Amino acid sequence: MAKVLIIGGGVAGLSAGIYSELCGQHAVVCERHSAAGGNLTGWQRGEYHIDNCIHWLTGTNPSSDTYKTWEELGALGGIDIFQGDTLYTCEYRGETLSLCKNLKRLEESMLAVSPRDKDEIRSLIRAVRTMQGLCGIAGEEHDKKLSLSGKLSALPMLTKYYALTVSELASRFSHPLLRRFIGAFWGEDFGALALVTVFAAFCGENGGIPKGSSRAMAERMSSRLKALGGELLLGKEAVKINRLNGKAVSVDFADDTRIEADYIVVACDPAAVFGKLLDADMPRRLAKQYKDPRLHRFSSYQCALSCDTSALSFKGDFIFDVPRKYRSELRINQVIVREFSHEEAFAPRGKTVLQTLTFCYEDEARKFIELRDKDREAYERKKRSLADALVRILVMKFPQMKGKLELLDVWTPATYKRYTGSETGSYMSFVFPSKRLPVRIGNRVKGLSNVLLATQWQQMPGGLPIAAEAGKRAAETIAKTEAREGRRLFSQRKPYAERLGEI
Ligand SMILES: Cc1cc2nc3c(=O)[nH]c(=O)nc-3n(C[C@H](O)[C@H](O)[C@H](O)COP(=O)(O)OP(=O)(O)OC[C@H]3O[C@@H](n4cnc5c(N)ncnc54)[C@H](O)[C@@H]3O)c2cc1C
Repeated sequence: MAKVLIIGGGVAGLSAGIYSELCGQHAVVCERHSAAGGNLTGWQRGEYHIDNCIHWLTGTNPSSDTYKTWEELGALGGIDIFQGDTLYTCEYRGETLSLCKNLKRLEESMLAVSPRDKDEIRSLIRAVRTMQGLCGIAGEEHDKKLSLSGKLSALPMLTKYYALTVSELASRFSHPLLRRFIGAFWGEDFGALALVTVFAAFCGENGGIPKGSSRAMAERMSSRLKALGGELLLGKEAVKINRLNGKAVSVDFADDTRIEADYIVVACDPAAVFGKLLDADMPRRLAKQYKDPRLHRFSSYQCALSCDTSALSFKGDFIFDVPRKYRSELRINQVIVREFSHEEAFAPRGKTVLQTLTFCYEDEARKFIELRDKDREAYERKKRSLADALVRILVMKFPQMKGKLELLDVWTPATYKRYTGSETGSYMSFVFPSKRLPVRIGNRVKGLSNVLLATQWQQMPGGLPIAAEAGKRAAETIAKTEAREGRRLFSQRKPYAERLGEI
């Protein structure tokens, strides 16, 4: 049995550990924090729980392939899934439009807003249906995956979206509400294909939220690892990967300990590993992506507030225009605010948590990080002033919230950098741009036969399913290497079911 040491206990690392155990190896997951999960986390502020991650979890529909993976990882089995009626609602001058899970209703409501845009609306809805067919998601009319010929004939339908950014797609609509609906939830540089994919997942009931949300899901995955016999070492920060004769032999930790292993899996931001923890070059294709000016990494600053449920007048995420005088301070034109009334346990009775989310690219993220490093007080003041402005904007928009909001927490890209060690506090992989396919980067590291990558950075745009898949692939690569070297048999799938039956 080979010993697999995994650096990073996020979803990719937990997945690498769980699948390594399922493949018959011994997994040791080392996580620098006091809890596993990485970005899949949440935290308490008094009586409130603040959720960090899941807006939608692709793979909650049992007919999707990803569901099976989540089940094997212990993430979903037997858990209630919350599939809200709407993912987000956009508002413009009092008129609203929601991304609702019923595609027919979505089409009708878009047409009702702007009959003039019917060609673009119908084209978008057709593309979403096509994507559902390609992914095999059980939407209203698509119960099965498309056949190979069906897939090939579906591709031209998607080429239009492949070539457009989200903002270019938005500009094809004449009505300002539709332009906001298309453009406001994503960064401008996102490829429109990413939007089509998210619409397809949500409207195919394949983008729900497991009960308890992020932290609870991470805890279930941690329990699955341990139940299989894997080790989870918390507060264990790797500082150096030691190499000898073309192999990595051990890892040194910040607590002055050393662990030897047969394989080492890097399951954290590669930008913080290559040339730092590990004296080796980053895989060439991945390094090229980090240098590509089109491939942004993003983070966000967020505020959590408590709010009386009686003052709440929307469901899911709500997006509205920022009054002009606040735009330069906040550097945004629209606010995204999310409510958590679907998680009653997150707040005392009669209250709920509201969270605002403001995306930032690397330059702005670096400013937060530098400010925190140089001047803690100024950083705290900045957080406070952002939160004050956001509260004022919320009360202007929803006057009934006056006196009903209380600040719980503010966090920024500096928080993400500190928490996960990710270089610019980025928490997804690169923004998935137009005219690019989300090609997967392999997990091998040149010159080191037993070091593997398992991270969301191997495939744009990242996210939980990609992280989980990366972990699974690393474990399978190790299992195949072991089988090739005659140490253990490996046949895909079968051992997973067998071992899961044992626990
Ligand atoms: C606000 C927000 C919303 C999101 N919404 C969604 C969503 O709705 N759907 C979705 O699919 N995804 C979403 N994501 C993205 C998702 O959280 C990430 O894609 C995923 O968690 C990445 O997992 P990972 O394991 O690759 O990396 P991480 O989560 O970054 O995990 C890496 C782990 O490695 C640890 N680590 C780093 N360096 C070391 C070291 N030297 N030694 C030991 N441990 C180390 C870190 O502490 C961390 O736990 C969201 C993320 C955020 C922050």
